Amino acid sequence: MPDRTFDRVVIGGGIVGLATARELLRREPATRLALLEKEPELAAHQSGRNSGVIHSGVYYKPGTLKARLCVEGRAELLRFCDEHGIRYELSGKLIVAVAEGEEAALREIFRRGRANGVEGVTLIGPERIREHEPAAVGRAALWVPTTGIVDYRAVAAALADEVRGAGGEILTSHRVTGIVSRDGGPILETAGGPIAARGVIACAGLQCDRVAAMSGRADLRIVPFRGDYYVLRPAARHVTRSMIYPVPDPRFPFLGVHLTRRIDGEVWVGPNAVLAFARERYGRWSIRPRDLAATLAWRGFWRAALRYWRTGVAEMWRDHVRRAYLGALRRYVPELRAEDLLPGPSGIRAQAVARNGSLVDDFAILEAGPIIHVLNAPSPAATSALAIAREIADRAEQAWTGR
Ligand SMILES: Cc1cc2nc3c(=O)[nH]c(=O)nc-3n(C[C@H](O)[C@H](O)[C@H](O)COP(=O)(O)OP(=O)(O)OC[C@H]3O[C@@H](n4cnc5c(N)ncnc54)[C@H](O)[C@@H]3O)c2cc1C
Repeated sequence: MPDRTFDRVVIGGGIVGLATARELLRREPATRLALLEKEPELAAHQSGRNSGVIHSGVYYKPGTLKARLCVEGRAELLRFCDEHGIRYELSGKLIVAVAEGEEAALREIFRRGRANGVEGVTLIGPERIREHEPAAVGRAALWVPTTGIVDYRAVAAALADEVRGAGGEILTSHRVTGIVSRDGGPILETAGGPIAARGVIACAGLQCDRVAAMSGRADLRIVPFRGDYYVLRPAARHVTRSMIYPVPDPRFPFLGVHLTRRIDGEVWVGPNAVLAFARERYGRWSIRPRDLAATLAWRGFWRAALRYWRTGVAEMWRDHVRRAYLGALRRYVPELRAEDLLPGPSGIRAQAVARNGSLVDDFAILEAGPIIHVLNAPSPAATSALAIAREIADRAEQAWTGR
């Protein structure tokens, strides 16, 4: 018999799991809730290793969860930061088209931004590009004033404080290794002993397909994509006042290598997107045979690889040849030099890939009886976390109590 029993258990101490735990406790303050995180600290993976951008919602197809939850989540995040004294800046960003062929894609982002209700987005020409970002060049650009920056580790820490303050237990070093179903709610096998729950919400990021497989649900597979950053040396930081982005390739869910001025004043360049051979190890040459085998054994991976191999090879080339990385950046910030780029950190994205080889674009949440699985929460899920949490709690209420 399990030695501990809770009403609700959240698996995963990233920003989505923490926001979900907070939301459940806000709705039902008497809930006995535990959040289980396998690492000794919170936000150790995607939530603590990202660009720190508060996205506005311009990119996403109208009507999708991403479009709605990014716009709503951004507004809630700003309120949350105000309430908790977390510093953020709404410095705005420029999305720059440098080639004629990119202008149609730029106009499509403009259209989506307006359809998604993003305020103040304007389509501008070369003169106005220089007004916003004197070092940038391009044929046309979108100015998005509602984009901002924040430190998501600070947001995660404040969410954790609220969860504890509302009586929730946060149990770190508690890896969930198995799920046993039984009447009355599942039992979770964890590194800290068995834990029973009436309802479980799994927000396991890079491991979400494995956690889903523990309860027999996994028709998607996480394929990890590493993103490496460079940091600009201090003397080169002036090349951006806020953020400069390229026009993304519409076939991919990644936004392209961009320049981001961080809340601490550093300027990060990146992230690129190369296949990672380990899900949660951050060295360039890290390999975890189990992770690599899982990717290679997934038919959807090979289908995607066949479709997109050219882009994959180009990304790997840029990853290893700094000159090539620099070349991509100099298309829109020509004054950058190789010596301006210092090695920076890396993050790894959890990208769900379907069996047919499609890269799942929208957020994906699956209700499976007493367990709700978040199966795809890539960017902009940090921006959207508070709204994703509401969406999950709504679905949990409906699934578990019929309300
Ligand atoms: C390079 C990069 C740049 C990004 N930039 C941005 C950005 O600028 N703006 C933005 O909005 N979004 C950005 N994102 C996306 C954003 O960071 C993620 O979408 C978000 O952090 C996902 O949060 P999460 O809680 O789902 O996942 P995670 O933060 O990965 O958390 C999942 C947690 O689950 C735990 N876990 C896994 N398995 C188990 C288990 N079996 N038992 C217990 N615990 C478990 C993990 O240890 C982890 O802590 C970026 C992501 C990356 C990688």
